Amino acid sequence: MNRLAVLGATGSIGSSCLSIVRAHPDKFKITALTCASNVHAMAKLIEEFSPELAVVMDEKAAETLACLLGSHGKSTQILHGQDGFCQAATLPSVDTVLLAMVGAAGLAPALSAIEARKKIALANKETLVMAGEIVMETARKCGVDILPVDSEHSAIYQCLAGNRTSHVKQIFLTASGGPFRDTPAEDFSDITLEQALCHPNWQMGKKITIDSATLMNKGLEIIEAVHLFGIPMEMIQVLVHPQSIVHSMVGFCDGSIIAQMGKPDMKQAIAHAIAHPQRIELAEDFPDFASMQGLDFAKPDTQKFPCLVLARQACKKGGTLPAVMNAANEIAVQAFLEQTIQFIDIPRIISQVMDAHKTVPKPELSHILQADAWARQEALSRIGAL
Ligand code: NAD
Ligand code: MG
Repeated sequence: MNRLAVLGATGSIGSSCLSIVRAHPDKFKITALTCASNVHAMAKLIEEFSPELAVVMDEKAAETLACLLGSHGKSTQILHGQDGFCQAATLPSVDTVLLAMVGAAGLAPALSAIEARKKIALANKETLVMAGEIVMETARKCGVDILPVDSEHSAIYQCLAGNRTSHVKQIFLTASGGPFRDTPAEDFSDITLEQALCHPNWQMGKKITIDSATLMNKGLEIIEAVHLFGIPMEMIQVLVHPQSIVHSMVGFCDGSIIAQMGKPDMKQAIAHAIAHPQRIELAEDFPDFASMQGLDFAKPDTQKFPCLVLARQACKKGGTLPAVMNAANEIAVQAFLEQTIQFIDIPRIISQVMDAHKTVPKPELSHILQADAWARQEALSRIGAL
């Protein structure tokens, strides 16, 4: 029995994980669940899974949750805040932690879970973008293997199995291209929130859906891959692949390329991460290759999607700059979701904040947290000045 803590349980990844758990009650047990503030969804999950611990963001949400549960929640302890999230990630009765909360809030629980030597299934890419060196170094010291949940990184992990990183020549990181792949550059200033939230291939949370529309998601994934696999950024090529069947590929020094494929459904990558080294049965069909029109690959248009360029700049410079880029992106995306800025303002704000930052090389965690807080403030004031 693999006892799971699901951080971000009410989200897109969290819900997909819980549907896998429902289908395999003999293999998984839910021990801890967390979310931000969706207490109604959390109450239902607690009634269903009776976890030992449930954590929400603030005290008010915790009180509402306790009221909603009444006598049903007696066997579940309810906590709130950052300390609570870290407790969920380190509970002695937990074997595997799925980190599926969104944004920088995932960093502290991720580090806690690694230090507690839990098995890590990592969906929260922002953690590696902000503090990839520190996170990977902690994982190495603690002897913890990080199993990626991001579909591209799960693909790369699977392609690398049985191979040496020193034999890798190229990583082909695929991208669907998002909803604006074929939108002419001159129409970008008219992009609406509704259009940006309508992803052609994947059902995801709002933040990553907007990141996929700006291609910042792919930028974050380049940095994520550099840290996860210890491969230089220059060896990572982004390929637009609208069908999202090839989840990524690894090219080796002898010219051989291994691709990992499947339908675009995150359950495969989640199942791979939480069941590793086993594979579990999912009610999934294979793609219907015989009736496919073809699989297409193209270079991304970096003029239309400057976030890709910004992410490469941040990755190359390193230090605190990736954390600054990530924080500015989180604030800009939130402002776009609240319709205070335009779609095309997102890369502008990020670029301005990055330009204004004095990068700290080889940062400690405290420098990263300071840079994150500074970038949020800087992004907010630049949004205010628009
Ligand atoms: P989501 O918005 O659907 O869910 C996020 C979850 O985190 C919710 O349970 C929410 O309550 C919780 N949460 C949000 N803010 C929080 C905070 N400040 N503190 C604590 N909890 C908080 O997001 P998602 O699409 O499931 O994505 C989760 C993570 O997985 C992100 O880092 C995303 O980049 C990554 N990811 C998602 C997908 C996908 O298909 N959805 C694919 C690859 C990677
Ligand atoms: Mg991805």
